[in-house]
Amino acid sequence: MKNRSYKSYINLYESNYFSKDINKAIYKLGKYNKGLLYVNKIGESVQGTPILSLTIGRGSTKILIQATHHAREAITTILLLDQINYLLSLYEIDYSINNMSISNLLKYVTFVFVALVNPDGADLVFNGGDFIPQEYKDKQYLNESLFSCWKANINGVDLNRNYPTMYPSIDSVIAPAYKSCKGPYYFSEPETYALKCLTEKYRFDGTISYHSSGEVIFWQYNQLNIERDLSIANTISKETGYNLEIEKEPVTGSGYKDWFVENYQKPGLTIEVSPYVGERKVPIENYKDIFERNKNVPILFAQEVFYKTI
Ligand SMILES: [Zn+2]
Repeated sequence: MKNRSYKSYINLYESNYFSKDINKAIYKLGKYNKGLLYVNKIGESVQGTPILSLTIGRGSTKILIQATHHAREAITTILLLDQINYLLSLYEIDYSINNMSISNLLKYVTFVFVALVNPDGADLVFNGGDFIPQEYKDKQYLNESLFSCWKANINGVDLNRNYPTMYPSIDSVIAPAYKSCKGPYYFSEPETYALKCLTEKYRFDGTISYHSSGEVIFWQYNQLNIERDLSIANTISKETGYNLEIEKEPVTGSGYKDWFVENYQKPGLTIEVSPYVGERKVPIENYKDIFERNKNVPILFAQEVFYKTI
């Protein structure tokens, strides 16, 4: 069987047209893998950039993997595209992991990847203010000196503080800012609303939220089945070498994973892939290690969820 020549998307990490180039790459990936990989538009950012999903597999266990809620953490977008390519390369040689071939895995599992949740925010980080629409030019919170450390969307809402939970983050702010603003109401932003609709449509059995800061895995959100979720998180901790964060209950948070775990009582992980680098993009030099640690994570997570949630 032919082996796909494996190519990383890391060159896009230096793009000045980040969201445009990522979406182009996603459409291309779908086109070259017709019948196996499906591209869907799940919504649009504030500035009208399509938010795309890539779906692979046809199983009843449904897994959502998403990245770049936080603008400056877009190295995780590259990671997701590379994870998909890597999965396809294993599929082509019918590779097995834990005695399960990838072709069998794709009979049991459907993966949905949303590689770039926050395209407008990522563009601020990558392009500076070049693409800010006219009507946003006089917004005070859009301060050019903050663009390289931007986490929020272009409305100045931190998307990972815009989800409804019982114990919301206690340090969120109300005014638009480059980080930490919870927004005027839950799901107020088109980006979080798109994920809400996607989640309600698929009713996922498990999710991974990729973030970039601190080489740690968050897995708790006051869930009932703590043993199941701890055991899944442990498998991913062993694979990646990232420590599990053990928090005191009630755990606070207003992120996608928190909402998902609380609302659906299914396992969800937030994986922080890089050592803390301060308020900036993760340096490209960190990527090789990030990819090596995370390339098998979607597969291992899906197997765990498949065995433990049926
Ligand atoms: Zn983050």
